[in-house]
Amino acid sequence: MQVRSGIAVSPGVVVGPALVLGADSFRIPNNFVNRDAVEDELARFQVALDHVCRDIGEHEVLVSEQLGSQYAAIFSAHLQMARDPRFVSEVESLIREQQYSPEYAVSKTLRGFAMQMQNLGDQYLAERALDIFDLEKRLLRELLGERREELSNLTEPVIILAHDLTPGETATLNTKFVIGFATEVGGHTSHTAILAGALEIPAVVGLGRCLAGVSGGETVILDGDHGQVIIDPDEGSMNRFLDSRARNQRVTERLESLEQSESQTQDGERIFTLGNIEFPEEVQQCIKRGADGVGLYRTEFLYLGGNREPTEEDHYDAYTQVLKACGELPVVIRTLDIGADKVPARIRDRFAQSQNPMLGLRSIRLSLQGTPLFKVQLRAILRAAVHGNARIMFPLVSSLLEFRQAKMILMDVMEDLEDEGIAYCGDIPVGMMVEVPSAVILAEEFAREVDFFSIGTNDLIQYTLACDRSDPSVANLYRSGDPSILRMIQMVMKAAKKHDKPVTVCGQMSSDPRFVPLLLGLGLRQLSATPHALSRLKEVIRNISIPEAERIAAHALTLDLARDVEHYLLGELGRICPDLVV
Ligand code: PEP
Ligand code: MG
Repeated sequence: MQVRSGIAVSPGVVVGPALVLGADSFRIPNNFVNRDAVEDELARFQVALDHVCRDIGEHEVLVSEQLGSQYAAIFSAHLQMARDPRFVSEVESLIREQQYSPEYAVSKTLRGFAMQMQNLGDQYLAERALDIFDLEKRLLRELLGERREELSNLTEPVIILAHDLTPGETATLNTKFVIGFATEVGGHTSHTAILAGALEIPAVVGLGRCLAGVSGGETVILDGDHGQVIIDPDEGSMNRFLDSRARNQRVTERLESLEQSESQTQDGERIFTLGNIEFPEEVQQCIKRGADGVGLYRTEFLYLGGNREPTEEDHYDAYTQVLKACGELPVVIRTLDIGADKVPARIRDRFAQSQNPMLGLRSIRLSLQGTPLFKVQLRAILRAAVHGNARIMFPLVSSLLEFRQAKMILMDVMEDLEDEGIAYCGDIPVGMMVEVPSAVILAEEFAREVDFFSIGTNDLIQYTLACDRSDPSVANLYRSGDPSILRMIQMVMKAAKKHDKPVTVCGQMSSDPRFVPLLLGLGLRQLSATPHALSRLKEVIRNISIPEAERIAAHALTLDLARDVEHYLLGELGRICPDLVV
């Protein structure tokens, strides 16, 4: 049994067979063979090995002729490895004695070697492990031939284990069969993590290197509540999993029955709980969960899935679908937030030179530089807005000039539509995300010009604490409970109150029930969260009064360490809603 801890990013506990995704997404369909097939399987392994060795030999000659012998050396190393008697006899004995399939035996043996090399603490040898993976890939390709299964051809539930998944890959996971995923890298609020929440797939990220010894097919328990992954669990762990699943199920069912009721505190204060969405279809999840609207529509996902540039009509159709589904309820459409970890594959080259993509050309900066792209989106929003209650929000605004420029382009687009005689909404509220410290410091100045604020804590924490939100090596420093973050929110609330402007929190902080009392106590009356989190947020709201929330916020503000704040808030949540502390 192997137990790994990582960062819990999407709740739920699941059990299933592992599917390890390498660069080639191989999947081994059968781990075992029948006893009477062993001799045939041994022969199949020998044939595959001979083909691979012949192939490597041919490559060696070719590369040596074209580039010189020093470049061909890598192939002699592969050949040596493939012909290594220790490797061959270990695979053969696994097939003969354990009845492993050749694919599984090859993968198990080579990954065992790779893990030994990676654990020697020598950088050179750790890198040589990559050669072993290369050989594994060659042999699997040969053995599986046409039977190689792709991620898109899944026919049974699997838990994906991968070094990393890009937001684009995550967005296209088949949720019918992918019941959970875990990655070696990634942080709390990486976009892959956010998507896991949107797709409602239990997920753990930032496990650190652990996949070298896993071939696929092993039973895995993935605990998205506590950030744990157990490979080949023993009986005790399996029983704990079953208990925890049953407990979760009971709480979920109880909360589901309350989903459609309005969220009001015990002293009658109405709190608006809205949903964050990435895809138009998700609006149904919001409605099902009784959301008061869409507080954040991350429109850049229109660009991340497909392989062509979305047209104005593509934008228009997506926004219209969401607005019509929401009827009178507000829908905050955030303009493109492309860049950093959200870059469509077809324009990746454009961003390749950036050493610091989180500080580079992203979001509103990109929109202001690429005005035609921005205008296409604004036209579509303004046209779609006649079908419902839309608002426009600009992301990552860091100076007043940026906000004014974005607004000027919006005015230009309105004029164009007017001239063309196309129906559009001319009095749409225009707000901004507060996710850069400069926007907090100048919140008062901004408050005079915007119609609303939405605090994006995911980026605000990253930029305030100088911690990459996707980097697990600094995940312990990336803290929503940091006193500086509490004070930042307080500053925005003060500025907004002075100018009577509404504020929402739409970062992942507001999807975490621990922070609800704090946020209410700091004056927030609107929270926008991952749809599946809404019922838990409502439960906290229903069980607290505003004076009590204010007392909790006041105490949290006296604490000077993030871990003390978070520990205190967890204790308060346990007192207010014991069921929610799992
Ligand atoms: C945020 O930064 O908090 C936010 C909501 O935006 P995103 O997660 O899309 O960067
Ligand atoms: Mg952001």
